[in-house]
Amino acid sequence: MAEIDPKRATDANGGLVYDDDVIRDILRDVKTIAMVGASDNWNRPSYFAMKYLQQKGYKVYPVNPKVAGAGGEILGEKAYADLSELPETVDMVDVFRNSAAAGPISDAAIEHGAKVVWMQLGVRNDEAADRAEAAGLTVIMDRCPKIEFSRLFGELGWHGFNSRVVSSKRRMPGRSDKVSKQSDVGDGFIPKGFETMAVHSGASPDPATGARGTPIYQTTAYVFDDADHAASLFNLQTFGNIYSRLSNPTVAVLEERIAALEGGRGTTCTSSGHAAQMLALFALMSPGDRFVASRRLYGGSITQFGRTFQKFDWHCDFVDAEDLDAVRAAAMQDKCKAIFAESLANPGGVITDIAALSRIAKDAGVPLIIDNTMATPYLCRPFEHGADLIVHSTTKFLSGHGNAMGGAVVDSGTFDWSQNDKFPSLSQPEPAYHGLTFYETFGDLAFTTYGHAVGLRDLGPTMAPMNAYLTITGIETLALRMERHVANAQTVAEWLEAHDKVAWVSYAGLEGNKYKQLAERYLPKGAGSVFTFGVKGGYEAGMAVVERCRLLSHLANIGDTRSLILHPASTTHRQLTEEQRTAAGAGDDVIRLSIGLETAEDIIADLERALG
Ligand SMILES: *Cc1c(COP(=O)(O)O)cnc(C)c1O
Repeated sequence: MAEIDPKRATDANGGLVYDDDVIRDILRDVKTIAMVGASDNWNRPSYFAMKYLQQKGYKVYPVNPKVAGAGGEILGEKAYADLSELPETVDMVDVFRNSAAAGPISDAAIEHGAKVVWMQLGVRNDEAADRAEAAGLTVIMDRCPKIEFSRLFGELGWHGFNSRVVSSKRRMPGRSDKVSKQSDVGDGFIPKGFETMAVHSGASPDPATGARGTPIYQTTAYVFDDADHAASLFNLQTFGNIYSRLSNPTVAVLEERIAALEGGRGTTCTSSGHAAQMLALFALMSPGDRFVASRRLYGGSITQFGRTFQKFDWHCDFVDAEDLDAVRAAAMQDKCKAIFAESLANPGGVITDIAALSRIAKDAGVPLIIDNTMATPYLCRPFEHGADLIVHSTTKFLSGHGNAMGGAVVDSGTFDWSQNDKFPSLSQPEPAYHGLTFYETFGDLAFTTYGHAVGLRDLGPTMAPMNAYLTITGIETLALRMERHVANAQTVAEWLEAHDKVAWVSYAGLEGNKYKQLAERYLPKGAGSVFTFGVKGGYEAGMAVVERCRLLSHLANIGDTRSLILHPASTTHRQLTEEQRTAAGAGDDVIRLSIGLETAEDIIADLERALG
């Protein structure tokens, strides 16, 4: 099963990739650990990790010359000045020092007789690793054993993180002495297929009751086991539930599922799509900062970015996302913190060249945020084309039945928040958590942890457990629904194009459409089910068609099982100026359709009568 070469395989961004089986075998076989650089300061990452590994049943020896010199202890264990003083030969040396210091420590681990050298998040020394591997040791770099243990062995309460493991068995929190046999990832299974993840990710049987469906945890708060447990939770040393504004087990299932479907590291769910946009930017922006956004956006987003965010002193530069020089010029501005675009833009049916925007974002040292609402991860996978963050209005296709508001912020986990000084919320000590630094402590989980522990905690746009439940149920059929949405949309678009009262149809699935090629690259399974057309006769004729429909519903939504029809100029895009409306693809003659799951002949029959 070890299909990834464990020796320095890297991902697209140069990050190290390890096979889960290799990590699992280490965490199972190792019993004793020397933690070099263990701190006696409770808000240092090494203190978090040591405490956690002790709880999981490992014997951990702290190595810290300063504490040892004073004859001190850390977390009840005597501290040692270096490896040579340890009372026994340990299985693993865990390096909590910088990459340069990791060299001599790794050499000392060879000398000592350890089997594994493990370098923490952000620590990497390839020459030292080569020497240790040549001496027969196994080396892991740029990972945290605490995070890997919790991910692979069913730790409860790592909210929103993509463990990649699913299970049809109850998953109890793991202990090192219970971690069992080869190719058995803590009673779990690692699915590869989209449909499997859509049904299973995040949702194992309830550990307390065995309930197979995801329970609606309709509770505000959660008990603490004891005072120490409470303190650990508040310090973010143990991940668990405190209060449902920050996290909730039903919402956590949805968060992990969306992260899995997007191929991301973690997700923070929110009360709506607009709340997701606010939360994503909240981690990045300070007063006076700017971001760049495509002019072709959902009408509500243009108002949120262009007007309401100004009250936070956040400034949006709207650009034509197809004019890459303009995007670059705006992104290179001093205070720019992000680039934002929709993968498939609402309502014009425009398809964004995500890879081109990603190159600009990388040059500018800022993340590319893609709103993937209209495409869904079934049709488009923005992370595979270089996006760093994805936002969703789960209100639309993900919940899919027009019955639950919600939003999601998904983190790819690949953006280096410390590459420049642009993102102090993630790379600098956080005063509201006693000086804890999110990126240093949580690595690729930092953005999602910040979303819950600061974003939801302090802004409060939390998703309700009932809405999470409805959205989880909706996502189970996402692949089937999207297939039918796309097939119906294609049929209706082709029929409209041939109709003599229709002036034009803008659907990227049609031959000759301007975006057909980009659609084949970015949305190979179809160009979605929301598109626009123009009726001959303009504004009046358009309104008449909308009003004459008897099957299609006249309302302001998309992504319902029901087919929907709307005149954007007089509704969703009404707040915009005429110039903004035209730029957003919502001119006076434009009618927007969101094709649902009814029989295609019936949708066509209704439009036929309405056009007549
Ligand atoms: C609906 C929508 C939003 C806003 O989401 P809400 O859940 O309504 O807050 C944002 N972006 C796109 C593309 C949308 O369609």
